[in-house]
Amino acid sequence: MAQQLSFDGDVVIVGGGLAGQTLALALHSAGVSVAVVDVLPFSTQLDDRFDGRASALAYTSMRMLDTLGAGARLREFTQRIEDIVVCDGRPDDGLRPGGPGPHSLHFDRHEIHPGADGEPLGWMAENRHARLAMTEAIAPRSDISVFAPARAVDWVRSPAFTDVRLDDGRLLRGRLLVACDGKFSSIRRREGTRTFGWGYGQKGIVATVEHDAPHNGVAYEYFMPSGPFAILPLSGNRSSLVWTEKAAAADALEAMDADGFHEALRARFGNFLGEVRETGPRWTYPLTLNVAERFHADGIAYCGDAARGIHPLAGQGFNLGIRDAAALAEIVAEQKRLGLDLGSTIGLKRYESWRRLDSIALVGATDLFNRLFSNDIAPLRMARGLGLALVDRIPPARRFFMRHAGGEIGDLPKLLRGESLAA
Ligand SMILES: Cc1cc2nc3c(=O)[nH]c(=O)nc-3n(C[C@H](O)[C@H](O)[C@H](O)COP(=O)(O)OP(=O)(O)OC[C@H]3O[C@@H](n4cnc5c(N)ncnc54)[C@H](O)[C@@H]3O)c2cc1C
Repeated sequence: MAQQLSFDGDVVIVGGGLAGQTLALALHSAGVSVAVVDVLPFSTQLDDRFDGRASALAYTSMRMLDTLGAGARLREFTQRIEDIVVCDGRPDDGLRPGGPGPHSLHFDRHEIHPGADGEPLGWMAENRHARLAMTEAIAPRSDISVFAPARAVDWVRSPAFTDVRLDDGRLLRGRLLVACDGKFSSIRRREGTRTFGWGYGQKGIVATVEHDAPHNGVAYEYFMPSGPFAILPLSGNRSSLVWTEKAAAADALEAMDADGFHEALRARFGNFLGEVRETGPRWTYPLTLNVAERFHADGIAYCGDAARGIHPLAGQGFNLGIRDAAALAEIVAEQKRLGLDLGSTIGLKRYESWRRLDSIALVGATDLFNRLFSNDIAPLRMARGLGLALVDRIPPARRFFMRHAGGEIGDLPKLLRGESLAA
């Protein structure tokens, strides 16, 4: 006798992290029936100790979260990014009191979004709050079927659908399977989709700090020889640090007691925001690049880090996942309206080509910037200082970079323009 199906609908998403939950909301908003599977119960993702990162959300990403009904809740916790300062820091510079030195680049949101209440360059959101806003938006939508905790252990493609087996024996059927199962996606691996990438030999230490002076919504990225050091504004007089170091140095920083870390922090941070203190725990993330050669397999789409996981220096990984979700949901909604096969190769190829350029641009840019800046080689230092100063003096170049960081590039999916997918 055939096994009873626990879900029989349009799309099964494996992986309910930030990308998977965004995609579930996007598909649901278009009238597509959806199931989300995650190894962890959603409540675990909301635990304060689960994810200490904060994400810089591009302004187009926030437009989409607003349209999907998660933005208002998230905005209760977010901080506007008004300016971004990029600087070629050197260890003996420290972080100068009063701000960056002459070889720096300044992005001011007024240049692209003028007016006192113009859109910011982006929004800083602690991941725990982004996860909270997302799960709260999903909870009342009882027709988003959540299977968590459960692990997807097997999947079989038939011409018209894919059956996904969970480790507790339940069986889910979707016309399309989407792998949102992260950088080391087991679906992508088992499908034999090749990836390219490498480890950076660096780790990102993430910590939240409090400082005496207000940050005024300015995000700082200092390129140091060991890797970028980012100071990202959070609500109140707080900032999130992403302190990149070679792996051994990062391990040493992670192991330091509070006094030792405070001393190291003061030496690196300087006092341009007054006295600075670490609040709460420290997290460490090994930094790698993993890019899937294709963004789909037979009846399967890869989304978020499962499609490509990049260096965090540009703060774009989650944004890429949001943009994947926007494009994929729009394609699936259109196919459903036209009565087409949701897992067809034509649709999947369209998804891939829509997302390819943005992905390649960010994979290339983050990798190149990390290589170019993470050293103390004198001629390179001079060249990059000149490069930063040059872009700083060319307003169209500045505006181009701000719009790209805001996700406003190429043919924008509707959700990123703040338009609904509802028919
Ligand atoms: C230090 C650091 C700072 C960052 N800062 C930013 C930033 O400022 N802005 C930004 O946009 N991005 C940033 N990122 C990147 C961003 O955090 C990631 O791109 C994003 O979290 C990836 O989300 P995801 O849902 O694709 O993958 P994941 O978060 O890895 O989620 C995958 C999910 O799949 C589940 N799963 C896996 N296998 C299975 C299975 N077989 N069955 C069921 N479930 C499964 C896992 O439990 C998990 O919940 C940063 C990253 C780092 C490391």
